[in-house]
Amino acid sequence: MAGIIQRPKGTMDVLPSEINKWKTVEEIVERQAEVFGFREIRIPTFEDTGLFVRSVGDTTDVVQKEMYTVTATGDSSFTLRPEGTAGAIRAVIENGLLNEAFPQKYYYLLSCFRHEKPQAGRLREFHQFGCEMIGSPSPAADADLIALAQSIIDSLEIKNVKLYINSIGCPECRAKYHEALKKYFEQYRDKLCDTCKERLEKNPMRILDCKSDEDKKLAKNAPVILDYLCDDCRAHFDGLRRALGVMGINFKVDPRLVRGLDYYTRTVFEFITTEIGAQGTVCGGGRYDRLIEQLGGKPAPALGFGMGIERILLIMQKQNCNFFEPTTCDLYIAPMNENCLDEAVRTANILRGDGVSVEYDLMGRSLKAQMKYADKIGAAFVMVLGEEEVESGFAKIKNMATGKQTEVDLENISEEFEELFCNAIMEKDEDFRKIEENFLKNRKNGEGRS
Ligand code: ATP
Ligand code: MG
Repeated sequence: MAGIIQRPKGTMDVLPSEINKWKTVEEIVERQAEVFGFREIRIPTFEDTGLFVRSVGDTTDVVQKEMYTVTATGDSSFTLRPEGTAGAIRAVIENGLLNEAFPQKYYYLLSCFRHEKPQAGRLREFHQFGCEMIGSPSPAADADLIALAQSIIDSLEIKNVKLYINSIGCPECRAKYHEALKKYFEQYRDKLCDTCKERLEKNPMRILDCKSDEDKKLAKNAPVILDYLCDDCRAHFDGLRRALGVMGINFKVDPRLVRGLDYYTRTVFEFITTEIGAQGTVCGGGRYDRLIEQLGGKPAPALGFGMGIERILLIMQKQNCNFFEPTTCDLYIAPMNENCLDEAVRTANILRGDGVSVEYDLMGRSLKAQMKYADKIGAAFVMVLGEEEVESGFAKIKNMATGKQTEVDLENISEEFEELFCNAIMEKDEDFRKIEENFLKNRKNGEGRS
């Protein structure tokens, strides 16, 4: 027998038993984004390689080491997107959206590809929820964007995630900072990792984002950008802090936060947790006022963030957060023998037409085996169809949770099942109300949470 081909390293299968967790996160992030006025945009999985080199930057880990670049015969070079911003901005420019009213707010949920060393919270194919806001230079826009990220974290009921912010200035003030950094790291040139030796020449700020322990140690005493900000950049950063204060969002200033991508200007931020190991950054973003121009668009300020869905799920599982109930079978119809199968199919068709999730026997199983199967798939109701039921047109439906049996008229199955189903939901309503009350209470307690 041939061997089994395994999935590529750093990729994941999401099985039906886990899908409700993904759907919970997907639904909540999308709903919060819409609440904040963001609208969905969809972009290709691969782009011209040049797009990422030009935007993400050729001194970044992503471009230097992590890109999946593919060529088809006779084609030019394409790269599987390592992030969403470059493609989203390309789409906005290419489709003439920059001519429309500002601010513009876009969001997307997509897979990204980076050739990294796989570990918990670090995959080669991972999923990002991303938001981009275009047109506003005001720190109020930065605060609005950060508020969306915070509200997503709150809505998912995730605890112990801290917001860190910094300003990395504009190219003008950063030039002076680069000089100071170069001077500082020059003393330790021999101790730096090879990549950082190169960065020392091209982009010394990147060294602050290096993951090597030795370089991290050296970075501890390096000069900080906040001491080099020009008046405008300083006022912008003060404005952001004030705006976050007004919103009651807790944050810490981390003067060494620089972020992994080259296109950022002024505000950068990260939401970090210590609960899922080394890969604790669940959301990272910032302002990129020069990116649109850099990609050939009419200059416009912009900002955005990316949130790693796998890391969000890791925390939610660790903290036992609530997930939406998985979809289960509403009704299992068990025909006693092959003669009763037609009636089962007919009834299933009618109810499926009403949107009820119905299954019936496709395996020719005995009644006993069918009941075992119905239990296994978590069927809410079971209806047994024997010769007698088919002949009389009446059958019993059993509520599997309560054991209660109700006789229904098969001629009228749509209405009869709806009534049964609604009654069962009403009985459960008490629980539902408790969950909702708890949710509202948490929301009140959570105001200004850190
Ligand atoms: P890190 O410092 O952890 O490598 P990054 O700075 O490379 O992160 P971004 O490019 O800002 O990350 O991506 C935004 C978010 O996407 C991150 O905060 C993280 O949650 C998630 N992310 C990034 N790379 C991966 C990966 N390889 N696997 C899973 N999630 C990832
Ligand atoms: Mg990275």
